[in-house]
Amino acid sequence: MRDMPRAAVLIALAGLTLASAQEQPAVEHARVGVLEGDALERLGATSADLRAAEPHPSVRYGGLTKFLDRTRTVVTGTFDDSNLAVLKALDSLDAYGLKATIAISTQSGPITELWPRLRAAVENGHEIGSHARRHLCQWPDTSTFCRSAYGRDEIEGSRDDILAQTGQRYVWTWVYPCGNCADYEFVHERLRQAGYLVARTYPDERRGGHIVPDLQSWAADPYRAAYTQVVQRQGGIAPAGRTDVALLNRKFDEIHPDLSVAPAGRGGGAGRDRGAGQGAEGGIYQFATHPSLLDFGADQFFEQHLAHIGGRPDVWYVPLGPLYAYRIVREDTVVTPLGTREGWVRFAVHHTLDPKVYDNAVTLTFTIPDASATRVRVGGQPLPERTSGLTDRWNTEYYRRDRSSMLITIRPNQIVELHVDTE
Ligand SMILES: [Zn+2]
Repeated sequence: MRDMPRAAVLIALAGLTLASAQEQPAVEHARVGVLEGDALERLGATSADLRAAEPHPSVRYGGLTKFLDRTRTVVTGTFDDSNLAVLKALDSLDAYGLKATIAISTQSGPITELWPRLRAAVENGHEIGSHARRHLCQWPDTSTFCRSAYGRDEIEGSRDDILAQTGQRYVWTWVYPCGNCADYEFVHERLRQAGYLVARTYPDERRGGHIVPDLQSWAADPYRAAYTQVVQRQGGIAPAGRTDVALLNRKFDEIHPDLSVAPAGRGGGAGRDRGAGQGAEGGIYQFATHPSLLDFGADQFFEQHLAHIGGRPDVWYVPLGPLYAYRIVREDTVVTPLGTREGWVRFAVHHTLDPKVYDNAVTLTFTIPDASATRVRVGGQPLPERTSGLTDRWNTEYYRRDRSSMLITIRPNQIVELHVDTE
């Protein structure tokens, strides 16, 4: 907490005492990408629209889901460093349907051989994060070192390299090279000013603190964001790696217990009342790794773990940066009922965040007894229905029926309309 203003220290401490295994309150950093003006007005909603709103007998709005499309758990991962093993790591991720953040040092290693594959990865729903330009490290990471290693060339230059080379529209994620400099508030502020929403740490590698930081939700301070566990062989200055598949899988199961099996001696309510795990409340499973510390092949620890955590219909597969952007979008999105028009029940879904930074969709739930006879329009256009597949994007739009629920996944700053067709 060096260089942290006193108020921020108090907020951080409050975060520690309030923090359960559940969601932790965010440490206050000024928010990136907030727009001026009134979002409702921009949508063309008039005060007459607002006054005319009244409850509909069979369409009840039930709020935003915690995670996209009412998934129970999030799976995300980060892959550090620029080397040719990145190519194999991406192939493995794609084979098991996971989405991750590839954190590259944009002027290190065989980077020119990586760019074409990284471009394809962006199109396929992965994220390219920044691991600086040159990957400067030093122990101890003195404030003098961090002031020079975190200059504009490294922070903004690497960001601009990614934008220029990959077609990605924004760079959300920073990954601290060697885990250095993550404790300095001036570093957080420089990252924030360059537009990063999250910065992933690598805590205390020398003593193995990086092996199981055991974060199972969003980090209280997004600029000092840990993760659940590493999945990799021993490397660097670390005393050990973590390659035991049973151990790796058990940590995921703690966050995402099998709800069809009641835990022994607990009776009903499978998955609830657990100390560390989120159970039915849902959590975030986030692994960190280095492609250079992996063995590839279906009979090796990495792909065996991916096989366990991949392909699940109640999991949201999403890279780290868009996941932290989602946290803000979900917090800030407001759903305002409008007057019914020509039989269409209408809701304005809005926030005042810059869509360039926050292109995330959120999921609205509606209880509609006759969900099968309901049509949905967004921005005046019919919304496509999703009937199968995994939740592995953060910005696509569709609706889904789930018994008497209607789950509508859209990007905010649009008007949603529902029409219940009666015979
Ligand atoms: Zn690194």
